[in-house]
Amino acid sequence: MVEIEHVNKHYGELHVLKDITTTIDKGQVVVVLGPSGSGKSTLCRAINRLETIDDGSIKIDGTPLPSEGRELARLRADVGMVFQSFNLFAHKSILDNVTLGPMQVRKMKRKEAEERGMALLDRVGIANQANKMPAQLSGGQQQRVAIARSLAMQPKVMLFDEPTSALDPEMVNEVLDVMVGLAKEGMTMIVVTHEMGFAKKAADRVIFMAEGAVVEDTTPHEFFAAPKSARAQDFLSKIL
Ligand code: ATP
Ligand code: MG
Repeated sequence: MVEIEHVNKHYGELHVLKDITTTIDKGQVVVVLGPSGSGKSTLCRAINRLETIDDGSIKIDGTPLPSEGRELARLRADVGMVFQSFNLFAHKSILDNVTLGPMQVRKMKRKEAEERGMALLDRVGIANQANKMPAQLSGGQQQRVAIARSLAMQPKVMLFDEPTSALDPEMVNEVLDVMVGLAKEGMTMIVVTHEMGFAKKAADRVIFMAEGAVVEDTTPHEFFAAPKSARAQDFLSKIL
């Protein structure tokens, strides 16, 4: 589903992604862990083509990432992304936030987009807020809308970059619960998170990055019970 081969990226002198090669299969849930600055966000952004890469290739469903134009819009629809900051359209209602993409990019009729949008809002527990504006919702609610908005595009894979890091603690679980539900339904997911509970509960794989390289790629059980590298041991000793 997502094939990453020998990907390198530099920011000037900084070698931020070092020969990354990994394949994420359809339906897999991969949690990406690693210290601050290890390249987790850069990797996510590269998969969504928000960043260019210097060499190597990234393919989604066998198709290399496009570089521009209409193909790029389609890629962005196929690869949903949820960020730490919710990035909702501030001047659009909750329902409009969820229907705009399908109408503009997928050319869906308004009626269908609204029916599907309401079903998605219901799924993330926000249907009764559909006519409100984003600022009238809590952070946890806004993030659930952001997830619904991505799902409305019927993505092939969902990327999450620290989706709960900006939330007050009491709102973290309502967002994680939605993500666990998605994982159980078979969505292909790449999740950067510090929520080890999510990794243990929902991940099929843990990728541990350090200094731009994949250092470990294993099951959550193996990773948490017996991390092989000194870097992963050090990382876990600091967060657990
Ligand atoms: P965190 O856990 O703090 O979010 P991360 O693993 O997501 O960290 P990245 O954001 O991918 O790390 O950053 C990797 C490295 O690249 C860092 O050293 C960062 O300072 C650097 N970097 C990121 N974006 C840029 C940029 N636009 N220009 C220059 N350097 C950048
Ligand atoms: Mg990051």
